[in-house]
Amino acid sequence: MKTYDCIIIGGGPAGLSGALALGRARKDVLVLDDARPRNAVTHEMHGFLSRDRIKPSEFRRIAKEQISEYPSVEFAAETAVSIEGSDGQFQITTEQGQTYTSRKVLFAIGKKDLPLPIPGLTEVYGKSAFVCPYCDGWELRDQELVIIAKGAGAVHLAKMIPGWSSRYTICTNGPDEMTEEEREELRRHGVSVFDAPIRSILSNDGMVERVELEDGTAVPCTGIFFAPQLTIGSELPASIGCEMKETGSVVTDMLGRTNVPGVYCAGDAGTEMYQAIAAASTGAVAAMSLNGELLMERWNRSNP
Ligand SMILES: Cc1cc2nc3c(=O)[nH]c(=O)nc-3n(C[C@H](O)[C@H](O)[C@H](O)COP(=O)(O)OP(=O)(O)OC[C@H]3O[C@@H](n4cnc5c(N)ncnc54)[C@H](O)[C@@H]3O)c2cc1C
Repeated sequence: MKTYDCIIIGGGPAGLSGALALGRARKDVLVLDDARPRNAVTHEMHGFLSRDRIKPSEFRRIAKEQISEYPSVEFAAETAVSIEGSDGQFQITTEQGQTYTSRKVLFAIGKKDLPLPIPGLTEVYGKSAFVCPYCDGWELRDQELVIIAKGAGAVHLAKMIPGWSSRYTICTNGPDEMTEEEREELRRHGVSVFDAPIRSILSNDGMVERVELEDGTAVPCTGIFFAPQLTIGSELPASIGCEMKETGSVVTDMLGRTNVPGVYCAGDAGTEMYQAIAAASTGAVAAMSLNGELLMERWNRSNP
């Protein structure tokens, strides 16, 4: 059975960027990807230099087309379900019944959203409700916005959102742990805070029209920012012994190395900086670091 130099699990910006770097470094690479990226709900990806406003699927298509120029990179549309072995000899099995072997592994599995328990939010997510003002704040500039968040997250967004729109209201969706000082600070800045649970989000064709609360209040708006609940894209890093952060991310050093020899992690899975360009950058860095390790191992093996 063929032993790949590296198996990359995940074919988003992080994994594809790693595949490009390793393909150009003439390494045998397999990218396993089951194509469930977190940003699948969006029509456009913003802020990626030279690719601003591109469709996420188009971004991936172009990336794969360019990587395919490098013949040592293969792709398989499969879900990795188990990983065993150690540095130099990892075995990865997929849901589709295949087992692959590789010297190194790069996790680029992203994060995924936990189900949103607010009626109507799914319908607007990615169309008029977003999670990050750097990604979608420009498109909602100067609009009437609702921030759905609690505690420190709500206060943080309240300080950020005025960079894009000064017309916004906070809905905490039920009892909140905000301190009296925080509430007073928001009052001083003229920010309204509604504590009642959200009954539903009313929208038309994905475009939010108002947020209705259990106490009968209706908050009209044309855009929403909310704090998502995230979890890592796969349990595989934990299953092979990778140290994890409380946030659900894999602990890595600056070069994408985890605590498990031969195992790297890049992109959203190893950070809380949810930006495609940052994911691509960490994917490239991890790939170069991993390639350096492979080259050193080869050099040492061939010691005359
Ligand atoms: C609504 C929304 C809007 C966004 N808008 C922007 C924006 O405008 N600009 C921007 O820069 N960023 C944006 N982001 C953030 C951006 O999408 C992420 O930062 C970026 O996609 C992370 O890249 P990644 O490669 O780490 O993970 P992902 O792109 O999530 O890719 C991970 C891949 O790994 C695969 N995978 C996971 N587990 C397995 C497994 N076991 N086997 C096989 N495959 C697996 C998944 O199917 C997926 O294809 C947005 C995010 C959201 C949610």
